[in-house]
Amino acid sequence: MRAQADRFGAELIRVDADRVNLKATPIEVVAGGTTFLTRSLVIATGAYAKLLGLPNESKFMGHGVSACATCDGFFFKDKHVIVVGGGDTAMEEGTFLTKFAKHVTIVHRRDELRASKIMQERARANSKISFLWDTEVIDILGAERQVTGVKLRNTKSGALSQMPVDGVFVGIGHQPNTKLLEGQLPLDANGYILTREGTQTNIPGVFAAGDVQDHVYRQAVTAAGSGCMAAIDAERYLEAQKHAAGASKGKPEPAKAPAA
Ligand SMILES: Cc1cc2nc3c(=O)[nH]c(=O)nc-3n(C[C@H](O)[C@H](O)[C@H](O)COP(=O)(O)OP(=O)(O)OC[C@H]3O[C@@H](n4cnc5c(N)ncnc54)[C@H](O)[C@@H]3O)c2cc1C
Repeated sequence: MRAQADRFGAELIRVDADRVNLKATPIEVVAGGTTFLTRSLVIATGAYAKLLGLPNESKFMGHGVSACATCDGFFFKDKHVIVVGGGDTAMEEGTFLTKFAKHVTIVHRRDELRASKIMQERARANSKISFLWDTEVIDILGAERQVTGVKLRNTKSGALSQMPVDGVFVGIGHQPNTKLLEGQLPLDANGYILTREGTQTNIPGVFAAGDVQDHVYRQAVTAAGSGCMAAIDAERYLEAQKHAAGASKGKPEPAKAPAA
């Protein structure tokens, strides 16, 4: 993909954007001490899955620990997995996983769910799902780069226990990378960029693509697709600007009033 972009004249600069000023004309992007000026900008900074912060979580990521049921569910055919969380993400991931797993246990640190009623009902009605209330995962156990179980603590009694499991799905939500845009663009309650008519934000010339504006699909192919949409939107925007500038340059002078 990069080779193809190179061939068409795209330049790749490997630095993080530290600051942006979307209200300036042209738009300013400060990255690695340099200020870049641009008439159009596509924001595609992605989102990350929130994790529990357990020491073994990253060690076993991709080896029994996952934050994406759609991506990894297939690898848990006829296995016992747990989903950690009590919101919509956990209910959605748990319900999806029952297509593959033998059993799904939803582990939640409280005794009631935060998920929407419809998502709760769907999960509760699924015979392959059970709930473990007032419980938090305090460690992930495994050997040879494969999860074998979890260590649990009851949040009310403090009692410790272990549960053998084949997989741990962390379903506590996602965080879009929009910190540097706060106060400059409308974001939804979870920090995702709001777009309309394709990838357009509410600032002319600023577009958003991929997971940073999509909390529904969050897949590589949908992100790439919306990246393509944003590129087309940006190109059309710049083309329209050029025509508008050309039209105003070529506008005839207003007719002068004849001398009295
Ligand atoms: C473990 C895992 C497995 C997955 N498996 C699959 C799968 O099997 N199939 C599938 O379709 N999808 C899968 N996904 C989802 C897929 O990876 C994402 O949907 C996709 O990568 C989103 O693309 P994106 O370009 O929007 O964001 P990202 O791929 O997250 O890219 C965002 C980029 O922006 C950069 N960035 C962020 N902030 C700044 C900044 N301030 N300045 C400069 N750069 C910045 C980041 O460094 C990153 O390179 C998986 C995701 C995870 C986490």
